[in-house]
Order: sequence, then C-alpha cells, then structure tokens
Amino acid sequence: MPTLLKIHVIDGHPQHELVWKKSQVPFICDGCKEFGFGVCYQCPHKKCNYILHEQCAIRRPSPPFQQFFPKCNFQFHKENPLGSTTRVCDICALDIQGFLYQCTREDHDLHPHCASLPPVFSLPDSNTEIYLRKEIKSRCLKCQSKKRSGLSYVSSDGKLCYHVACLKEACLENWKKGYFQLDVISDDENKCLALQNLAPKHVVLRSKDQSSKARKGIKWVIIFLKLLVSAIFGEPLTLLSTLFQFYEN
Ligand SMILES: [Zn+2]
Ligand SMILES: [Zn+2]
Ligand SMILES: [Zn+2]
Ligand SMILES: [Zn+2]
Ligand SMILES: [Zn+2]
Repeated sequence: MPTLLKIHVIDGHPQHELVWKKSQVPFICDGCKEFGFGVCYQCPHKKCNYILHEQCAIRRPSPPFQQFFPKCNFQFHKENPLGSTTRVCDICALDIQGFLYQCTREDHDLHPHCASLPPVFSLPDSNTEIYLRKEIKSRCLKCQSKKRSGLSYVSSDGKLCYHVACLKEACLENWKKGYFQLDVISDDENKCLALQNLAPKHVVLRSKDQSSKARKGIKWVIIFLKLLVSAIFGEPLTLLSTLFQFYEN
C-alpha cells in the first residue's frame, strides 16, 4: 500500500487532517493507547497533538500476517465489541485498551501495532535470522523464564529468546526513565543502564578483565537487542544507533 501523506480520520478526530511523519520521540497512540515511535500520523495543530500509529490510522481490514492464527478471521474494531470484558493481545500478552483486531470467533485479539511486527528479519552481513515463534527453548533475556504468554523473538540457533511482552515492557520502562532521549542516552552510564534494563543478566559494566569470549557473547546479545528494539519501533533511528554503539566497539 503506498504511503498516504495526509489522512482524514473521521471518527476520533474529525477536526483536522493527520499528516504522515517520522516521530523522533516516543508517543502514546490515541487509537490503541500503546506506545509507538517512528512512522505515525499526527495532527499538525500544535494544541491538538492527536497521533496514531500508521497501522491504527490506515486500518487494514485484516492483519498483515496470520501464520500464528490460521483459523482466525480477524476484523478491525475501534473498541472491543464484547463490551467491558478485558481482552488480551495474543502476540504481546498485554491488555487491549483501544483499537484492536478481533477474531469473529471471539477467541483471539491483537493490537494493530503487534499484528504488524515483522515475523522474520535478518542481521545485515550475516546468515543469522530472527523469527517470531510461539515456543522458546532458551530463557528470555529479560524475565529469565521460558513461560510467558504471547509470541517471542528467537535467534535462528535458538539460543537468544525474548518475549514480545517483555520487549514492550522493557522499552516502556526505558522510555519512562528518560533513556529514549538523545541527550540522556549520549551519557555512557545511562546507556549502560538502559541496556541493562533490556538484558539484566547479560549486560554488565564493561570491565578490563573480561575474556574475549565473554565480550564476543555480549556483542551478539547487543546486536540481537538492537534488532528487536528496531523491529518494535519500525526502523533503526539515530537514537537507537547511539544507544547500542556502546558495546559495538
Ligand atoms: Zn495505535
Ligand atoms: Zn487536530
Ligand atoms: Zn479465531
Ligand atoms: Zn499486543
Ligand atoms: Zn520474558
């Protein structure tokens, strides 16, 4: 679908046209109430600030990929058609508070943004790929568990795993702590704290006596994290390059 530069969302925001842009700061989407970053549609009027994920503004009739829910027939809704019952996203395992895709059988629900997460992506200059999976064989880098609902990202050798739920929570925490601001993240200590929050057991303060094997292991974890955070945000941004350059040297 070609990118529309302007869009008029009649429900929710009938007053002004929304303009396609790349937000350099994280935002909370006024449609799904989830956080976002990068590509979005925003009202250009300063006092208004209405903003939507691209997926929440364009609203494809069904989610872009359905390999995990082959029997489902998803439809887009502005609010949960089932009323006050809390629905949980089957990709990130977090509550749904706004726009959603719901299966007509009422068995599965998805955040529009989660439904557009890349199912597979690869590392530049490498044959290692990262897949979205239902099951994981190694512990999640964040929660150290294999058991959490929703989907996970897994490296092709199966050694690095991360729940989508944990990834979204860790990114949100980093944002709340101010780590997604270029001036804050330019500071090495903050950079390290932000990375530690993403992978608490793996990222330790760099010490001189670390073996080269351990350093190589950390480097691969950092590259894995960088790709995951970029996937959540839609693209690698200056901010992310700055955040992750710490361990790449
Ligand atoms: Zn949204
Ligand atoms: Zn407006
Ligand atoms: Zn279904
Ligand atoms: Zn979700
Ligand atoms: Zn986890």
